[in-house]
Amino acid sequence: MLRNKTAVVTGGTRGIGLAIVEKFIENGAKVAVLGSRQETVEKSLASLREKYPEAEVMGLWPKLSDAHQVGEAFARVKEEFGSLDILANNAGISASQSLYDYTPEDFSKIVDLNISAVFICSQAAARIMKEQGGGSIINTSSMVSIYGQPSGVGYPASKFAVNGMTKSLARELGKDNIRVNAVAPGVTNTDMVAALPEEMIKPLIATIPLGRIGEPEDIANAFLFLASEMSSYVTGTILSVDGAARS
Ligand code: NAD
Repeated sequence: MLRNKTAVVTGGTRGIGLAIVEKFIENGAKVAVLGSRQETVEKSLASLREKYPEAEVMGLWPKLSDAHQVGEAFARVKEEFGSLDILANNAGISASQSLYDYTPEDFSKIVDLNISAVFICSQAAARIMKEQGGGSIINTSSMVSIYGQPSGVGYPASKFAVNGMTKSLARELGKDNIRVNAVAPGVTNTDMVAALPEEMIKPLIATIPLGRIGEPEDIANAFLFLASEMSSYVTGTILSVDGAARS
């Protein structure tokens, strides 16, 4: 589904990001795996090369909230792979503090990665995609972007912002043949969820009609659809992949 396409996946070293990287490779894309540290990116590349010896992969670790570093990294992708067709804005951090304990520094951290980095990466990718004649940007929202959550207010606030950027950039970039969509995962089996307190997760699972939390591959399948030509007339959509969870 992605033959001759090139993708950048932020936060691609583990969890949902790694599942997206593997799904894209399995469907023929060349993939640039972005992570926060050289060590984890190189480790991840080594295991990808072992699992997919034919795959064309590269690794980069720009600071995602630094427009200069991101611009340079995306230019390297274009130089090495010949194009940049798909951007999966996946890197993100969550929060669960009560408002009373929430420091402005913690709030800023969420804003930097979950909002500013999405803006910076989308801008850098769109500049290349426009020149090429099109592309697909896929953001990672969350089911909490629809319902909010009872603590860690920075996290749902950041995902509401992601939805806003998705819908707005879809309208702005349609003329350049750049589609912009988001996937809104429900509770998904990754380190991020393992880090949350049990009293937060258990009641969430009880509200899921499909009776289970999501697996990273469930989410990666939605990214594949939105990255491929199968979704050529889909833009500005927030695609829920949450087992119909309602919290
Ligand atoms: P995870 O914690 O397993 O992985 C997060 C990824 O982001 C990692 O690859 C990590 O390297 C990267 N990252 C973290 N801080 C970074 C930084 N400062 N700079 C660059 N990269 C950084 O999380 P996950 O569960 O795989 O989450 C991936 C995305 O899915 C996030 O945007 C998250 O908000 C969203 N999401 C997750 C769930 C869930 O239940 N797991 C639900 C809804 C949405």
